[in-house]
Amino acid sequence: MPESLPNHEAIDSPENTITEIKLAVAKLCQEYKGEYWRELDRKQKYPTEFVRDLTESGFLSVLIPEKYGGSGLGIFAASTILEEIHHQGCNAAACHAQMYTMGTVLRHGSDEQKKKYLPKIADGSLRLQAFGVTEPTSGTDTTSLRTTATKDGSEYIINGQKIWTSRAEHSDLMLLLARTTQLNKVNKKTEGLSVFLLNMQDAKKKGLSIKPIKTMMNHSTTEVFFDNLRIPEDNLIGEEGKGFRYILSGMNAERILIAAECIGDAKWFTNKSTTYANDRHIFGRPIGKNQGIQFPIAKAYANMKAAELMVYNAAKLYDEGKSIGEEANTAKLLAADASWAAAEACVQTYGGFGFAEEYDIERKYREARLYQVAPISTNLILSYLAEHVLGMPRSY
Ligand SMILES: Cc1cc2nc3c(=O)[nH]c(=O)nc-3n(C[C@H](O)[C@H](O)[C@H](O)COP(=O)(O)OP(=O)(O)OC[C@H]3O[C@@H](n4cnc5c(N)ncnc54)[C@H](O)[C@@H]3O)c2cc1C
Repeated sequence: MPESLPNHEAIDSPENTITEIKLAVAKLCQEYKGEYWRELDRKQKYPTEFVRDLTESGFLSVLIPEKYGGSGLGIFAASTILEEIHHQGCNAAACHAQMYTMGTVLRHGSDEQKKKYLPKIADGSLRLQAFGVTEPTSGTDTTSLRTTATKDGSEYIINGQKIWTSRAEHSDLMLLLARTTQLNKVNKKTEGLSVFLLNMQDAKKKGLSIKPIKTMMNHSTTEVFFDNLRIPEDNLIGEEGKGFRYILSGMNAERILIAAECIGDAKWFTNKSTTYANDRHIFGRPIGKNQGIQFPIAKAYANMKAAELMVYNAAKLYDEGKSIGEEANTAKLLAADASWAAAEACVQTYGGFGFAEEYDIERKYREARLYQVAPISTNLILSYLAEHVLGMPRSY
């Protein structure tokens, strides 16, 4: 029986709730040590058992309100869970979408859609792991995407292609962004895009195909093709043409949660580095006695502590309902940099052994590199801060 989410009514303060959550997550993760992840990495396989345990324990439904079967704890608690998973050397990339992708349905879906989907997403009987936004030709320039959804009676016909649709082979539902009004018929590029929640199992029989992409780390990411796929009109979330705004409104949550994973990674790397620096004796003394070894680890630690404050602050403000574009983006930028600096220091500390599979460093190093690029690249965050926070001209 997996360790489960503590009953927070029985705990006396929010701080204690967070501590209890961390302990419970850490205990669950103890069942999934390095060998488990190494084996999956070698075979590029999905961590089915790990995701099942997290789901059954209630950790993936903390953002779903209680009335729909979740625990309604908020982004701070969700960040704590993801951070701790990474702090323990595990990887939440296989399942973090199950936590937050449903936010679009929660904020913009009809009552009927919420009642239909959210309880099943909460109990894991419906997996909402696939988020189809990025396309091969448009990349970061989302509003140039080419996948179309054309209304035909009571259905939409979907045509086009997505890339980097992670976990598509392990999902029952996909949140899809597609163009419903041609670019030359809208005033702004951000208009005319719509969001759909489609049943993938059904769609696979009718025009949806999935092709896995081999990547430098085990990420279950894919290309997805839509060939005259017909979906019912009630798969549309919210109003037609407003989809870009709906997707944007979920991105701050995603950035905070990924940033929390980076903080967990940074802590894991730093634990590994300090232990090894103390244990490894070369020239008759611990390598950690050399400032050349100590300082990069200490600096990475200081960077992580600063980034951690930004992540916690962004999460707290998000839970208070504040507008947090600056905080969420800054948290993601600094946390991704902090985990990468900690990863670099760790490989250097381990020397040759940093490259050997059995120490897990090289695997975590490959995994940590992603967050300079996805879900939003460092460059685009800097552009956001330059333009929207500092008032400089748009650079692209
Ligand atoms: C493993 C993995 C999993 C992913 N999972 C998903 C997913 O589940 N769903 C999904 O929709 N997407 C997913 N993505 C896509 C991810 O969000 C994009 O890769 C990312 O947003 C960058 O887009 P791109 O790869 O098309 O790069 P491009 O847009 O082609 O950009 C290439 C480089 O140029 C830089 N660049 C581009 N324009 C500018 C500019 N104006 N100023 C400065 N620099 C610029 C970028 O920062 C980047 O470094 C995933 C990607 C990866 C690698």
